[in-house]
Amino acid sequence: PDDRLPKPDWIRVKAASPTGRYRETKDIVRAHQLITVCEEASCPNIGECWSKGTATFMIMGDKCTRRCRFCNVSTGRPDPLDADEPQRLAETIALMKLNYVVITSVDRDDLRDGGAGHFVQCIQRIRALAPSTTIEILTPDFSGRLELALDILCAAPPDVLNHNIETVPRLYKEARPGADFQNTLNLLQSFKARQPGIPTKSGLMVGLGETDEEVLDVLQALRAHGVDMLTIGQYLQPTGGHMPVRRYVHPDVFMMYADAANRMGFRHAASGPLVRSSYHADEQARAVGLL
Ligand code: SF4
Ligand code: SF4
Repeated sequence: PDDRLPKPDWIRVKAASPTGRYRETKDIVRAHQLITVCEEASCPNIGECWSKGTATFMIMGDKCTRRCRFCNVSTGRPDPLDADEPQRLAETIALMKLNYVVITSVDRDDLRDGGAGHFVQCIQRIRALAPSTTIEILTPDFSGRLELALDILCAAPPDVLNHNIETVPRLYKEARPGADFQNTLNLLQSFKARQPGIPTKSGLMVGLGETDEEVLDVLQALRAHGVDMLTIGQYLQPTGGHMPVRRYVHPDVFMMYADAANRMGFRHAASGPLVRSSYHADEQARAVGLL
């Protein structure tokens, strides 16, 4: 029996039209053998984002050493790092003339530095080839090597440091095995302590079984750890094998979260059913005066 909740009408997304700028984005991504989270995560906004020439790149391969139960990225033994990837990525960003780019990665628990060095190489190549592009990185949690990873990242820091808290602490075991709620907060706080001038950002999904009260507690915790920007969006189940959607949160409730976040002092909060960590990231950066 299909026990999935019916999708409410505010979840409908525009279908991608495989023409024009969308096609161009796809061709450039393919030609440079890059991986995007837009495709890997089956993001519902791909039609809109790719048609505008925005994409979120995923570095260090398409196999993750973690197995989060909401995530569509495959788990497995990762491939060795591709030393040429920073150059290809930077060339692509220059070719696409992106004002703003978000770069994320799979989790690389197999690497001594968790992949921080590879992030830095990407940032350095982008600074060289596309100096006017503003760079946001959406990092893994660097569990067990946080200080080492931050030392490396702070040598060539991004313009925005994003790391998602994803869900409320009670659901970590089920949703995010291998991750730790406090470790995520520590990463955000330690980066801020080292680089007070660089905005930090985090986000979570709702619909995994959390209550509104728990969501507000997470927002308080993020603020208490110095986080500046926030994203909150509806979780959508990528396949039947992933965690079920336990509720569809009404747009009014998303507005309530945003109001609460503003009162808590976040510099910007994007909250809505289709908001993703990288959705309209450029507009969010503009709102805090980065662009
Ligand atoms: Fe890609 Fe982010 Fe847009 Fe989704 S919201 S399509 S992941 S850029
Ligand atoms: Fe997906 Fe990130 Fe979890 Fe890996 S660590 S399974 S990429 S959410």
